[in-house]
Amino acid sequence: MDANELRQQLRPRAGGPLPKDDHIKHPLVKAYPWGYRQWYRRIERSSLQALMGSARSRDHQLALKVANCSPTQQCGEVTLCWWCKVRASLTEGEAIVQFFETKIKRDRFSAVTIILACIPYEERHTLRTRLRQIRKRLEWAFRLWPRSQWYGRFELDLLTGHRNQELGSYAEKTLKDMGYAPQSAPECVLVHAHLVIYHPRISRDAVRSDLHHWYSACRQVKVTSLRDEQTTEEALTRFGSYIVKFKPPTFALYGRGSRTFRPRHPDVVRQYVRLQRRVRHENLLIQGRAGYQKDE
Ligand SMILES: [Zn+2]
Repeated sequence: MDANELRQQLRPRAGGPLPKDDHIKHPLVKAYPWGYRQWYRRIERSSLQALMGSARSRDHQLALKVANCSPTQQCGEVTLCWWCKVRASLTEGEAIVQFFETKIKRDRFSAVTIILACIPYEERHTLRTRLRQIRKRLEWAFRLWPRSQWYGRFELDLLTGHRNQELGSYAEKTLKDMGYAPQSAPECVLVHAHLVIYHPRISRDAVRSDLHHWYSACRQVKVTSLRDEQTTEEALTRFGSYIVKFKPPTFALYGRGSRTFRPRHPDVVRQYVRLQRRVRHENLLIQGRAGYQKDE
């Protein structure tokens, strides 16, 4: 597919699904929940529209790369491409199960979400350095728990200060505590992490209390058990899939039931795409073990 064909395909009302959308029921992605496959398609479609509407030819090239992705020639653009994102989610689910010894004590697993930093969008060029520092501090903390193991990912959210922006699970007080300044710097990158931590020598309460001590802003840390109704393996697989979602601000995408599939704020979608491309997918991974020896 070339740029003209893609433009035809993206035309409001007249344009149809892309050839790659035929793979939505492909056996390789069938294990992934249908709702998410659809949702990732909506993200992709909005992003392609936004990129093709840009004045930069680099953006058009990226859109074409994603539009031409196929099971045999994957584009690897996990932020944008629904196929690559579903594949990466499934792979991550397998990787996290392999990482942990799943027969070990269930109550020594905790699912942790930590809000780590609020970086003004203007300072986005420092993002990679900041992530390195944040990771260092985080892993320093985890290593204090004897024989702990952790696996998770950083996630980058774009806050725009736009009146329609939904804050999702963030409380305004948390953002304020984190130093978010909507008056002076309404656009910011919120760095948070989702992790599973195995802590065989200490209780979940001790993990929670340590984390609250180190990360003490309002609702900065959330520590829960794995879901009761799932086996450990299922819970880990789901968790692994969940951490590879790359979600642009929803208000910027096209609305549910839209017939034109035009994003409401293409500029914000492009901004999100560019932000994500500053950091490689593999550099978002956080995994390690504290003083762990196999023969112990
Ligand atoms: Zn792809």
